[in-house]
Amino acid sequence: MTYLDYQATTPLAAEARQAMLRWLAEDGFANPHSAHAMGRAAKAAVEVAREQVAALFPPGGKVIFTGSATEAINLAIQGRAYGAIAVSAIEHAAVRDTARAVGSYHELPVGPDGLVDPQVALPDGLGLVAVMQVNNEIGTIQPVAHLAERAHQVGALFLCDAVQGAGKLAAPASADLIAVSAHKLYGPKGIGALWIRDGVELSPLIHGGGQESGLRSGTLSPALCAGFGAAVQVALARQEEDAAHVSGLWDAARDELARWTLNGSETERWKGNLNLRLNGLDVARLMSECRRVMFSAGSACASGSGRPSHVLRALGLSDNEARSSIRLGFGRYTTREELIEACRAIDAAAKTQGV
Ligand code: PLP
Repeated sequence: MTYLDYQATTPLAAEARQAMLRWLAEDGFANPHSAHAMGRAAKAAVEVAREQVAALFPPGGKVIFTGSATEAINLAIQGRAYGAIAVSAIEHAAVRDTARAVGSYHELPVGPDGLVDPQVALPDGLGLVAVMQVNNEIGTIQPVAHLAERAHQVGALFLCDAVQGAGKLAAPASADLIAVSAHKLYGPKGIGALWIRDGVELSPLIHGGGQESGLRSGTLSPALCAGFGAAVQVALARQEEDAAHVSGLWDAARDELARWTLNGSETERWKGNLNLRLNGLDVARLMSECRRVMFSAGSACASGSGRPSHVLRALGLSDNEARSSIRLGFGRYTTREELIEACRAIDAAAKTQGV
């Protein structure tokens, strides 16, 4: 099996697993919100993890642990009455659907390269602008620092979904709210975080025991926090090495699949994401013929809706072009050999379709 779906989730780093084991052991079960010695030890581990995760973000804010990035994004968007909200046309559903649900919703278009124009017109009366750092389907890196400044100029706050960029790229220093997820950076599933700039007031969505500064009630899992913290520590220590590895993988895969067309900018991108199309390709058939390669349809239809991806459509691709796209995602633990072998298998299977 070759795993090429790193945008969906990443393998758990050995360092993260090791950090978690201490809190999954027989004596590691205490509630970190208890005042006794075992509780205080668990709380200390949570606070070490919070410091480790905080290293992803600019100074001058706080880290609130959540159950996922989806929850962090919901807290950021629903935790305040913004009035009008503008989001990029290629945001993840966590941002799009939440923004749509709460207020007057505006979409910022992207060009055929999958990038928001930094000079894009912002409608009047905005309270929030949300643009992701790295797109999960096509890997494009948005000009988020510039867009955050533009948001501030019109009096709006800026939310950045940094789920696919965290640990790989520096966080946008001028954002007000940043959402991240442990399982996209080699940490465990079931934990995310929202970074909130000092002075930005939010109201909780989840009420109860008042944990996480009253913003997210519920007992934290020391194991998940410790795994998240360790994963961030490793990601930051290996940032350059990981990026160089992924860049080499990208070159190898591009060479193997040179006849395929790339979706999204060639240059402004995270190179661990290769979204490609071959006109006329039957992706479902390709996937069933390449069962030993774990990859995605580039048009990842929203929960079986049958509609092609809003991201590929936003680039200007036709339904057919979107439907003939695949996404290969690779990262720290992918080897060049397995990637080349998988690319050859995919290309050979496509050829049997006559495309
Ligand atoms: N935002 C982006 C860009 C993502 O890729 C994902 C995960 O698919 C999410 C948000 C949601 O993250 P989580 O799985 O932690 O809810």
